[in-house]
Amino acid sequence: MNRQTAFCNFLFILLTSAAVFAQRRPVPAIDHGQVPGYGGKGIMLEWSTLSRQQAEPDVPASPEPPAGLYLRWLGVAGFELSDDSTTILIDPFVSRPALQARALFARLQPDTQLVSGLLLPKEGRRKIRAVLVSHAHYDHVFDVPLLLELARAAGHHPVVLGDANVAAAVGTQTERMHTLDVSAAQKLVNGQKVWPAGSFGAFTISVIASDHPSYDHLPGVLLDGRINGTPKRMLAFKTRFNTTLQWLITYKNLRILFSETPIYRHPQDIGPVDILVQGIASRLDRQNLIAALENLQPRYLIPSHFDDFFKPLSQMQELDYRIGTGADFARLPEFIDACDSWYFPQMHKHSGTRRHEPALRMMAMFRYYALNNLLAEKRK
Ligand SMILES: [Zn+2]
Repeated sequence: MNRQTAFCNFLFILLTSAAVFAQRRPVPAIDHGQVPGYGGKGIMLEWSTLSRQQAEPDVPASPEPPAGLYLRWLGVAGFELSDDSTTILIDPFVSRPALQARALFARLQPDTQLVSGLLLPKEGRRKIRAVLVSHAHYDHVFDVPLLLELARAAGHHPVVLGDANVAAAVGTQTERMHTLDVSAAQKLVNGQKVWPAGSFGAFTISVIASDHPSYDHLPGVLLDGRINGTPKRMLAFKTRFNTTLQWLITYKNLRILFSETPIYRHPQDIGPVDILVQGIASRLDRQNLIAALENLQPRYLIPSHFDDFFKPLSQMQELDYRIGTGADFARLPEFIDACDSWYFPQMHKHSGTRRHEPALRMMAMFRYYALNNLLAEKRK
């Protein structure tokens, strides 16, 4: 090898490793140990730990993607659901700009390294086929335009599913926007309570309209309206008709409902589910969630949307489970307590029969939870 070739090779390796390094930021190390549900206050509900201790299918969690079906929590209402060939992203949001008074009015920028490093699947064969966005608030849609740009460059061409405000927020970043029609009068999706939104690989997706969480700590803030053009400021991200979309995903015979809101409009039309991924922010109305649990009869209840999304991941040495400064929109310890003392007993009281109680399980952020054993068990 002559000197010039050697130098060129060296330069090539340097540049490619720099490019890889720029794309792949290591997953932030977030300590969960002090948080109720992960051992904090003596409460351990972490799914992989409990699945080993209880008589239930083993759900191992790992820092790297396992083979087969897995579920991964990306923080807030964000999830990655994937098998060996297809990836579905739900409300993916990792940029998490810090909440300062000026951030309410400043132009926000998504974080390219975080979006690339945390949201693009590590294995190229797992293609992102669909991005599901519940509504157009910034903690659900903000990263989607950048994600689409990076995904396209990496050979993924996902369909985006969302309402007209989501379509406006996503703007020209995709020609594969599937705008779901939610009307003010009917509060249904495309005229139906449960609308079949499509199949992607082995995943079949239906969508249900429901109410946005109750803004119980934000009286008088106008977060609903029409979005025109790509919003840049926090308060410019708005819901449409105060509606948020729930996603029912069927994989083989496993049914998973992603509901970022605790306020259901049509729980009786959804039917039983195996896993209910339930957002718990801003839940004032307990009766509504009880009715939902009665109708859905989830085997597993996984709370989400309780981490402080006003805090960047780089400042999240410990999982901060109190949303907002001063107020706490999530009240995670109260939710955990209420499951045993209120939600589950009330379910039985109303239905009159002692049904199987949902198993309350917590997922650690960014870990891969393998669901293959749940599939195998249902097949028996
Ligand atoms: Zn939200």
